[in-house]
Amino acid sequence: MKLTNITVIKELMSRHGVSFTKSLGQNFLINPSVCPKMAGVKTSGRVAVEIGAGIGVLTRELSKTADKVIVIEIDESLKPILAETLADCGNVEIIWGDVLEVDLHKVLEERKAERFDICANLPYYAATHIIMKLLEFSAQGSVCLNSITVMVQHEVAQRFTALPGSKQYGIVSVAARFYSEPEMLFKVSRGSFFPAPNVDSAVIRLNIPPQKKYSLSGEHGENQDKQFFRLVKSAFSERRKQLCNPVSKEFILCGIGKEDVRHALEAIGKNPASRAEELSVEEFINLYENISNRIIVR
Ligand code: SAM
Repeated sequence: MKLTNITVIKELMSRHGVSFTKSLGQNFLINPSVCPKMAGVKTSGRVAVEIGAGIGVLTRELSKTADKVIVIEIDESLKPILAETLADCGNVEIIWGDVLEVDLHKVLEERKAERFDICANLPYYAATHIIMKLLEFSAQGSVCLNSITVMVQHEVAQRFTALPGSKQYGIVSVAARFYSEPEMLFKVSRGSFFPAPNVDSAVIRLNIPPQKKYSLSGEHGENQDKQFFRLVKSAFSERRKQLCNPVSKEFILCGIGKEDVRHALEAIGKNPASRAEELSVEEFINLYENISNRIIVR
């Protein structure tokens, strides 16, 4: 059964009385070259976790390259279709639920999966949120997430892979480089999906190192990353302004004023009038640590 063929998709859906749910981002892949590329070497011999099976087109590819495939799919109306299209894929298990609510640690621990890779064509409406959640998950320990290979809207792909100084560079770019090594893999045109969306897509890969890339020093213990992103978010909240303005507003109750932020920027070798988009991840970390020390000293 050729799951990238529109006639096959329509026939399957009508025979099982299922219709597309636009609000769940159901744009299914019909370009036959994309899934094999996405499912490639990274999942080989490992556990692959897919978010959103649709009618199972990528799931089938993953089933060939990974030892085990765990799929999290929210739409239970797809059950009879997937029972048919994945009938011969003995290494696939479907968990019915919302990926934003499923306890991924528990799922993986129960299945004794110590290492895994994510591979998914994400629903547009929640793509950024899902990736951010996965990045935070990757830093939490017991189960090791190796990589996140995902199809997302092209603009979202640009934001996750952007470098300092570009207009796409923002909070998610800092998060991607804080937790992983992001890579833009390839662009996918809107005509590669059925129904066709109004935007183009791209596949990105976030390679997660076995040891956390950066460890922050300071007083906040486990809360450290949260406090760091509090700083990053405040810096980008008024991205056209000098970052000393929004950052001092955010940390005013910790006794940090505009001049403190300017001094901290100077101390890390940056222009005190810098805007958020001019700071690399390492510079944000230096700024965070410098400001944290100023809070502690008082
Ligand atoms: N993998 C299929 C493909 O490539 O053709 C389908 C991809 S489609 C863009 C997104 C899939 O994610 C849909 O099957 C949708 O039902 C599912 N989905 C949407 N929101 C979800 C959520 N919060 N948790 C789990 N699955 C979700």
